[in-house]
Amino acid sequence: MTSKHASVVVVGGGSAAFEAAVAARQGGAPSVIMLEKAPEPEFGGNARFSHTGFRFVYSGADEIRRFLPEMDSATFKTLQLPGYAPEDFTADLMRVTRGRINKDLAEVLVNESNGAIDWMRELGIQWEPAGSVEIGGKRYFEPGIVIHPTGGVGGGVSQLNQWRAIASRMGIEIYFDSRVRELLGNDRHIEGVRVSDGREEYELRAGAVILCAGGFQANPEMRARYLGANADLMKVRGSRHDTGEVLQMALVVTAIRSASP
Ligand SMILES: Cc1cc2nc3c(=O)[nH]c(=O)nc-3n(C[C@H](O)[C@H](O)[C@H](O)COP(=O)(O)OP(=O)(O)OC[C@H]3O[C@@H](n4cnc5c(N)ncnc54)[C@H](O)[C@@H]3O)c2cc1C
Repeated sequence: MTSKHASVVVVGGGSAAFEAAVAARQGGAPSVIMLEKAPEPEFGGNARFSHTGFRFVYSGADEIRRFLPEMDSATFKTLQLPGYAPEDFTADLMRVTRGRINKDLAEVLVNESNGAIDWMRELGIQWEPAGSVEIGGKRYFEPGIVIHPTGGVGGGVSQLNQWRAIASRMGIEIYFDSRVRELLGNDRHIEGVRVSDGREEYELRAGAVILCAGGFQANPEMRARYLGANADLMKVRGSRHDTGEVLQMALVVTAIRSASP
């Protein structure tokens, strides 16, 4: 079996994977490889199917102006942008989840949302206004969802292509059709992954392994087990490649760790 090496390996080929890979390069990793299980025409995970609704904290129109530099002033003035405070975002999260939420993770999501969008803008992601309702010449938005990456509603592929171009400029390699089937290492240290790419199986050793392989929504057996009765019958609108095996690999490592003396 052949063995390869990279400083950082990112498992997955969706939005989170691109963001992790780009952040790793920015952080100084000399070589970053993304492993995408899907064939190239299907890369990108659920973002391919997404409406690219971006909810984030912002202070008001002046801030949003930086994301829409080419829009003429008259058109920009029609956009109603009253701001969306951290308290608004938290209240919306509590409302839609009926309070069943991990409060620590919610706090990270809320507090980092503005910085994350700015980071994307600085990297070169292009933006346009989100879907709105026009009344009396003014455009009103769902609170917190006022812009999204260019490509229109349902523009997930456009967003992914923007990420792909940024990753390529930074020298990040993407291996398509490359399924991770095992985490290498032990309960103290993950040293790499075992990959199957249809032609061969090989080991990819790495200084760090970042798991961004999505959920298990395309796995009926796991849906039934973890989401409840009849969840296996749900119709899945997203990626058919999100079958949860990487989560299971991570759970095995965690189980070994918690069982260790
Ligand atoms: C129809 C639809 C509409 C949506 N609309 C919105 C929206 O408007 N706003 C919003 O914020 N969110 C929306 N979402 C949710 C959003 O798309 C997801 O939360 C987001 O794309 C998740 O990104 P991710 O990178 O974490 O995971 P995913 O996109 O699920 O990516 C997982 C990646 O891992 C790969 N993978 C899986 N197993 C392996 C393996 N063994 N080896 C290697 N690679 C593997 C997959 O091929 C995929 O590339 C929507 C989702 C759907 C389905």
